[in-house]
Amino acid sequence: MPLVHMKDMLTHAHENGYAIAAFDLVSLHFLEAIMQAAEETEAPVILSLAESHFDYFDFELAMAATVAAARRASVPVAIHLDHGHSLDSAVRGINLGCTGVMVDASHHPFDENVRITREVVDMAHACGVPVEGELGYVPGVEGEDAERHPGEIAYTTPEEAERFVAETGVDFLAVSIGTVHGRMKGEPRLDFERLAAINERLGIPLVIHGGTGLSDEQFRRLIAHGVSKINYYTALSDAAARIIAANVRDNAQGYTGLMKGVRRAIAEECIRCIRLWGSAGRAGEVLKAAQPWREVEHLIIYNVEGIDEEETRRRIEEGRKVLSRIPGVRRVDTGTAVRPDARYRHAWLIRFAHEEVIASYRDHPDHVRYADEKFRPVAADRISIDYLLD
Ligand SMILES: [Zn+2]
Repeated sequence: MPLVHMKDMLTHAHENGYAIAAFDLVSLHFLEAIMQAAEETEAPVILSLAESHFDYFDFELAMAATVAAARRASVPVAIHLDHGHSLDSAVRGINLGCTGVMVDASHHPFDENVRITREVVDMAHACGVPVEGELGYVPGVEGEDAERHPGEIAYTTPEEAERFVAETGVDFLAVSIGTVHGRMKGEPRLDFERLAAINERLGIPLVIHGGTGLSDEQFRRLIAHGVSKINYYTALSDAAARIIAANVRDNAQGYTGLMKGVRRAIAEECIRCIRLWGSAGRAGEVLKAAQPWREVEHLIIYNVEGIDEEETRRRIEEGRKVLSRIPGVRRVDTGTAVRPDARYRHAWLIRFAHEEVIASYRDHPDHVRYADEKFRPVAADRISIDYLLD
């Protein structure tokens, strides 16, 4: 059960002067490589899935594998939606298993960024999920990740950062102090003074996007000034591509031939980062300091009165659709008792992302409407219990 609260994880990193890697994954090879690297170095790690990469893989299928990988890990893991575009993206991410979400409205003017971010924070916090916002703009310069972030760099100012955090309630802030997405052109110049001032004012974990191409010394200074989460992808992608190119030169045959060694190449770059950023060997401490992430099963067993079998079916179908879209609902299962003489004939098994969802689900207008109009009037004979899952 090594899924842990990301906020506890990053607070530990912030207090102890190291940074946790948030590696973006775009395939099963990346997922396996990242987990291998984290296990080998005994490091806490964040599995990150960027909405801008959803053209390359099926998010829903990738999340099933990501959650499974996190659950069987021995090191603490969090699952993060990277660069979510909208409130709907954040809801989808949380419902599929993300335990942290980023909302990226940094290309909007300040007030609009605050409004969009605040909306996501309200929803996510009601699901127990922490939120990363971005203020200032980290553009792309070159390469696949770069194309998705057009425009000029806009630096984060300490004054605006303080206002932004106060007005939105974000748990972590991605700042713009000179890094770029994708591959660097020339030596990046980072504004450490600005970063130090932001860290002093905010006192919350800071995040850097565009980690590829920075020097060891630059990473050390970023971390010394409050950077606790580093997003990293392009260099992993390049490491994989170099191996594939070498396999082509060696006349490797077929897909599996071309992919030979890719996992190890990605893992090695992950290991280098984990060691450099100081998270190696921290798994045990973080497991002690961080609350485990626990889902809740909302169980209802009931009998129906006053409507026929067909209408019962119809209402169950409608409920499955309506309820599964509510923020924090991970799964809606329904069933009928195997034995016809069972004390209760029907069951709802509704999986909540977190204990917080019990209240936000209960009060959600879609749930209230369905329960009051379609369910409670015909299901007076029922038992409902919430179970915190081990
Ligand atoms: Zn980014």
